[in-house]
Amino acid sequence: MNANEYQECRLCPRQCDVNRSEGQRGYCQETAVCRIASVGPHFGEEPSFSGRHGSGAFFFSGCSSRCIFCQNYQISLENKGYEVDEAELFRLALSLIGQGVHNLNFVTPDHFWPHIRTLCENLRARGETIPFLLNCSGYQEPAMIEAYARLIDIFMPDFKFADPQLAGQCMHDARYPVIALESLRKMIELNGFLTPWDPTGQETARHGVLVRHLVLPGCVENSLNVLRQLAAEFGRKLPLSIMSQFEPIPNCETCRLFTTRVAAADYRRVCDEVESLGFENVYIQPDLGDMDFMPDFNRDEPFDGNKRDK
Ligand code: SF4
Repeated sequence: MNANEYQECRLCPRQCDVNRSEGQRGYCQETAVCRIASVGPHFGEEPSFSGRHGSGAFFFSGCSSRCIFCQNYQISLENKGYEVDEAELFRLALSLIGQGVHNLNFVTPDHFWPHIRTLCENLRARGETIPFLLNCSGYQEPAMIEAYARLIDIFMPDFKFADPQLAGQCMHDARYPVIALESLRKMIELNGFLTPWDPTGQETARHGVLVRHLVLPGCVENSLNVLRQLAAEFGRKLPLSIMSQFEPIPNCETCRLFTTRVAAADYRRVCDEVESLGFENVYIQPDLGDMDFMPDFNRDEPFDGNKRDK
């Protein structure tokens, strides 16, 4: 592993330039010691990823975005997790592959990329062909995408904000819309759209890009502008997942923002726009999401839905 990347850390757009190898922490609040909060077959992703046997999810501790409403706040804002070394990551990955998962799914991976890269290289050197999936915030350093794409088969970035002011308010970086779009262009240029596209989950995805968007309460205009921007840039064949599952977290009360769920009428308005823009390959959540996939990382199995669907 090239530890230099942790010594003057510029792994994400925050460009903190701190020495994480010496225990310093930047915006993500993580040192160079890799930490995870949960690993296991996960059934809460879209059918293209969860399939029948689950997605092999690694939930990394810490986050470079730290959105004030993060649904995984226990790990992204509170940095819950435990230390793992390279050998343990490798053992965990082989165990997941042995359980028949359809992919290895690296959730919020940017700040531990050197560890993930080594893991992926070692797995490929051993002849493992399982797809590697980068499950990320959209807030990726554009200069990193080429390096990711050398190993990563599937990109699943969010596109959270088209509105710079909202991005500034939620994650303290109004540059998000510009950065996310630039990174997404590179992901699509290098890996194309998600393939195969089979929303039944019979045939899980092996390659390409799918973009996620979580609708926020009271932010319909932001969602409509996200969709319009994506349609204008990438056309109606761009695979999308439009999510309604937002649930207020304790920090929402503290910030007095996003203190309700998404109104059904607002979600419908966003879905209507998806249709009128002509997007062809879209996951729409039924009702307002499956609450069994709201995590509690204080439990061994954070997701009730995983016990149900296993
Ligand atoms: S990964 Fe962490 S320390 Fe490195 S630039 Fe990003 S926020 Fe800063």
